[in-house]
Amino acid sequence: MKLLRYAIGEQTYCGVLSGDEIMRLGIRDLRALMMPDAAFVETGVLDKLGDARVLPPLMPGKILAIGRNYAEHARELENEVPSEPLVFAIMPSAVIGDGDIIEWEAEMTAQVDWEGELAVIIGQTARKVSEAEAQDFVFGYTVANDISARDLQSRDKQWTRAKGLDTFCPLGPAVVSADAIPDPQNLRIVTTVDGVEKQNGSTADMIFDVRSLIAYLSRAFTLQPGDVILTGTPSGVGKAQNPPQFLGDGSVVSVEIDPLGKLTNHCRVL
Ligand code: MG
Repeated sequence: MKLLRYAIGEQTYCGVLSGDEIMRLGIRDLRALMMPDAAFVETGVLDKLGDARVLPPLMPGKILAIGRNYAEHARELENEVPSEPLVFAIMPSAVIGDGDIIEWEAEMTAQVDWEGELAVIIGQTARKVSEAEAQDFVFGYTVANDISARDLQSRDKQWTRAKGLDTFCPLGPAVVSADAIPDPQNLRIVTTVDGVEKQNGSTADMIFDVRSLIAYLSRAFTLQPGDVILTGTPSGVGKAQNPPQFLGDGSVVSVEIDPLGKLTNHCRVL
């Protein structure tokens, strides 16, 4: 099942996407489906995808992200392959949806890079869960682009600005429910910039898989419904191209994970 949050005019809805039609649900936030006694209320209204403005699937409580979770990507930036997950946080205020604009000020950064990633949406409170039960706490999966200002990333040491600038966390377009993705470690991630393929990796190559990340993170933090985990990016980021390439004014960047969908954003330099 593909769940979408969207707007028509001033009204916000959630619905089930099927082809180019959306079956409207009687809720305005996907968290309503994460409650233990959640009722799945269909309104009987069908909206056309073409009439809808797609919104981020939800506004996360917290976003936990994993750096260098693909060995080839660690190596391409001349970093060591980590022996345990490298965890950082992204500001929830960075989240935008499919079709929204990634923007930054030229004075802030001149090295804006792409990182196509599988995103995990937590559906139930998880604290100190085992790897064996970890997947039971997943509500669904979506596509993320962990936009990164490489100059700030190296200059700041901490990654809070580099990864957390406003608009730097595109998510979506839809959430595919966990029951439809029994094996999240067999998904292809393809990133294109202006139609040219830059990343083509498989989640099979994660160093720490989704189960182990949930178990690991839940030992440090209580994971709550609506929290999001970004699981790291495969090789092929801009900084590793020869010569390095970065996003600029008018760039169009897409991340596609079949069968989750394709997340496309235009860039604007202010
Ligand atoms: Mg990343």
